[in-house]
Amino acid sequence: MKVLKFGGSSLRDGPSMKKVGAIVAADSEEKVVVVSAIQGITDSLIGFMSRVRQEQDVQRFVRELRDRHLQILADVAGSMYVKQQAIQLLNEKLVRLERVLYGIIYLEELTPRTKDLVQSFGERMSVIVLSAMLQDMGVNAVPVEADDLGIITDGQFGSATVDMEATRRNAAPRIKDMLGRQEVPVVTGFFGKTPEGFITLFGRNGTDYSASVMANVADADSLEIWKDVDGFMSADPKVVPEAVPIPALTYEEAAELSYFGAKVLHPRTVEPAKARGTVVWVRNVFKPEYPGTAIDDAGAERGAQTIKSISSMPNMAVVKAYGPGLGSRSGVLSEISVLLSEAGINVYSAATSQTCISLLIEERDLRFAERVLTKASRSVVDRIETEKGIALLCLVGEGIGQEVGVAGMVFSIVAANGTNIGLISAGASLTALTFTVKREDLEKTTRTIHHELFG
Ligand code: ASP
Ligand code: MG
Repeated sequence: MKVLKFGGSSLRDGPSMKKVGAIVAADSEEKVVVVSAIQGITDSLIGFMSRVRQEQDVQRFVRELRDRHLQILADVAGSMYVKQQAIQLLNEKLVRLERVLYGIIYLEELTPRTKDLVQSFGERMSVIVLSAMLQDMGVNAVPVEADDLGIITDGQFGSATVDMEATRRNAAPRIKDMLGRQEVPVVTGFFGKTPEGFITLFGRNGTDYSASVMANVADADSLEIWKDVDGFMSADPKVVPEAVPIPALTYEEAAELSYFGAKVLHPRTVEPAKARGTVVWVRNVFKPEYPGTAIDDAGAERGAQTIKSISSMPNMAVVKAYGPGLGSRSGVLSEISVLLSEAGINVYSAATSQTCISLLIEERDLRFAERVLTKASRSVVDRIETEKGIALLCLVGEGIGQEVGVAGMVFSIVAANGTNIGLISAGASLTALTFTVKREDLEKTTRTIHHELFG
């Protein structure tokens, strides 16, 4: 059996949704479908929450949402009966959303919990429209909401992680029953709920992760993640026009690339699939005949190159904490990491010396990081310096940690280019080699390395 995931870009309008329908109906294998919100809906929910102010605004906004969904529904479903049922379901969701939005106005308060709840409505509506289209095509599709199904999270609003054990316990029997009745569950991506029942999101593009969770729940042989690109590429084609598609990756390679800036998959996508050995395919809705990228344990043998891909994060910054004898005092690095992680700031690389600890973070976290560190570390840190305009480059391939000379080769390419290298991290994973350059050197460096490695 397999799980198919479709993102917002494949659910843009009637014609693109019909492409999805053709893919779902193409084979008769048992399947679960997982979907994102219709394109632009999550953004408009976020945008509206940040500027709601009056009852009329809510009414107008909800009307626009209804119109957009009804328009697509009219384009994809012909049967009166199917349409009427879908409209009724959509109205139920919209009434509930409207009440929540009024709540925000009356309480004059927008908590992380409410933000997550509001955003979940994009997916609650898209599954209704997609199911209606599939029913109209003769597929026995049934819309399913992730909270109702019992996808349980750790409760971190905005970027939750799934409790796989609890989720399997809740959801596996339900899915099995549905498949036994020849139904095709069409499940909402993007969110789950805490054990107490509060909606928690997996972060932007979290539907990839939801789909992997469902693949785990259903013990799927394969997970097909349908996008509007050919799969993973050897570099970002916008920066390197001659970038080539990558036919196979290991789970680790895909995870590192996703973590370090390749926007193909949500960073945590491969974990649940890997846990049960499900093969993950990244495929292109607009080129269904093209196989895409396969991700599994065998990816290493199938990939010829040591380095398979270059990804990057252009908007990074470095925080340097100075203090006398920092390097030889135990516990300083861990104290600093705890402070930052409690503040929700991700550290992508760290290097220590006798007088300084350098941490690579996203530039948007810089001010906050500075504040957190100045406040709490008088006794150990006597000075903080920051540097903006940094970019992180990441080279990924299983062989990097095993083969001699890979890092040396890469750095001599970069040096020959006249580019200065900042922080280097090579040992954290055997699969990834990362280093920083000035942001203005990023594109040129990427192109030079790609040219040398891939011709
Ligand atoms: N609809 C959500 C978003 O726009 C989740 C997703 O697309 O995967 O981020
Ligand atoms: Mg999306």
